[in-house]
Amino acid sequence: MLHDRQRIRDRAEEAIFGSAESQLMLPKYRIPQNASRGEAILEMLRDELFLDGNARQNLATFCQTYADEEVRELMDLCIDKNMIDKDEYPQTAEIESRCVHMLADLWNAPLAGNPVGTSTVGSSEACMLGGLAMYFRWKHARRQAGKPTHRPNLVTGPVQVCWEKFARYWDIELRQVPMDPGRLAITPEAMLPYLDENTIGVVATLGLTFTGAYEPVEDLCRALDQVQQEKGWDLSIHVDGASGGFVAPFCAPDLAWDFRNPRVKSISASGHKFGLSPLGCGFVLWRDKADLPEELTFHVNYLGGDMAVFQLNFSRPAGPVICQYYQLLRLGRAGYRQIHMNCYKTAQYLAREIERSGPFRLLYRGDPQAGIPALTWTLEAGAEVPFNLYDFADRLRNRGWQVPAYSLPANDQDTVVQRILVRQGFGLNMARLFIEDFRRTVDYFARHGVGENLTQQEAGGFHH
Ligand SMILES: *Cc1c(COP(=O)(O)O)cnc(C)c1O
Repeated sequence: MLHDRQRIRDRAEEAIFGSAESQLMLPKYRIPQNASRGEAILEMLRDELFLDGNARQNLATFCQTYADEEVRELMDLCIDKNMIDKDEYPQTAEIESRCVHMLADLWNAPLAGNPVGTSTVGSSEACMLGGLAMYFRWKHARRQAGKPTHRPNLVTGPVQVCWEKFARYWDIELRQVPMDPGRLAITPEAMLPYLDENTIGVVATLGLTFTGAYEPVEDLCRALDQVQQEKGWDLSIHVDGASGGFVAPFCAPDLAWDFRNPRVKSISASGHKFGLSPLGCGFVLWRDKADLPEELTFHVNYLGGDMAVFQLNFSRPAGPVICQYYQLLRLGRAGYRQIHMNCYKTAQYLAREIERSGPFRLLYRGDPQAGIPALTWTLEAGAEVPFNLYDFADRLRNRGWQVPAYSLPANDQDTVVQRILVRQGFGLNMARLFIEDFRRTVDYFARHGVGENLTQQEAGGFHH
C-alpha cells in the first residue's frame, strides 16, 4: 500500500506539471546549486518566452522571422560548427566563399571571379569593416601627401546606429546631413557643404532605417566626381545595403547603386534581413583588393593552416552562412524576386488601406524603384484626432501587432511616424487582418478618446 503510493507519486513526478521544478520560481540572480530535470526547465523557459510576443507580428524588425523546415534542419546540423575554424571545417569555409562569389556577381563587382569579402555576424560588423577600410585608405593617402591625419570625418545621411558606433569607437567625427521637411534622405546638394579634405568617405544607405527608402547612390557618385575635379578630393562611397543589398538586385535590376559605380568601394548587407537567412549573417565586399588595406587583414596560423581573417569577431556560428547558401540555391534570382515582389504588393495594399482609414499621410509606400518593401506614415498636419501615433502603436499592441511610433532625426524631429517592414510571411491575408485591427483602433479612439493612463512618448521607444 505504502509502496503503491510511492509509485503513484513517482509517476506524477514524471509529468512536467507534477514535477517539483514546475513549482519553482526560476532563479534570477544566482546559479542554483543542483541540477534539475531538463524537460521541465525547457517547458518553463518556453512559457516564459511567450511574454516576448509573437515575432511574426513584429512589423518593426527588418530581420527574418520565418524559417522553413530545411533551414531548421541545416541550423541543427551546423550547431557545432565554428565559422572561424576554416582549417577544421574546410567545406564550410568553401560554402562561405561561394556566397561571397555570388554576391560579388550580384553586386556587379569588376573582379567577380576573385572577390574580396567575407561573411560577418550581421551588417553592423560589416559596416564597421567597410568604415575601417575607408578610414585606413584616407590615412594612407594623407600620409603620402605629407598631411596630418588627426581629424577624420565621415559624411552620411540619416544612418543606422551602427555608424554612430563606428564613429565613436574610432574617434571619427560623424557628419550626418540632417533631414529637412520634405527631404528624408541625403541628396548631392545637401551633402556638398559637409565635405572637406578630412572626409574619409560617404555612406549611402540602401533602405533607410527611418522610412525604408533608397538613397541616390548614382547621383552622389556624380556629385563626388565633380568634387574631385574641383577640389582634388577623391572620395569613395560605402553602400550600407543592409536590407536593399538583397532586394534591389532582384526587384530593380536597372538601378545602378552597386559596384557599377567606380566610386563605390565597398558594400555591406545583412543576410538575415532580405537575404532570408536566419539571424547571424551579414556580408561585406570590396571592389578591389587595393580597397581593403593590408593592415586590416590578419594572417593567423591556426591549428596548422594559414588563414587570412578580417573580422572583428572570432568564433561565430556557421549555420546562418550555410543557410544563406541554401537560400541562394533554393530560390535563385527568380525566387527572391517573387518573394520580395509579394512583399511590395502587401506594402502597397497596406499603404492604400491605411490612407483610407483616417488622416494618415504616407511618407513611403513600398516602391521597388525607390526603396525596400516597407511603408511609413505620419498623421496629417493639423489632423483633428483624439490620439497621437504613440497612443495608436500602444493600442495596436492589444492584438499583438508591434508597430512602434518614433520621431524622425534632426531636423525633422517634430515628425512622428509609424513604419511597417513587410517581410516574407506577411502576405495579403495577414495584411487584411492587420487592417481590420487598424480600423478598429481608429474607431476605438473615436469612441473613447485617449484614456488618462495612456502616456505618450514613453509608449514608443525607437527600434532600429
Ligand atoms: C539593420 C541595419 C544595420 C545593422 O544591421 P545588423 O545586421 O542588425 O547588424 C545597419 N544599417 C542598416 C541600414 C540597417 O537597416
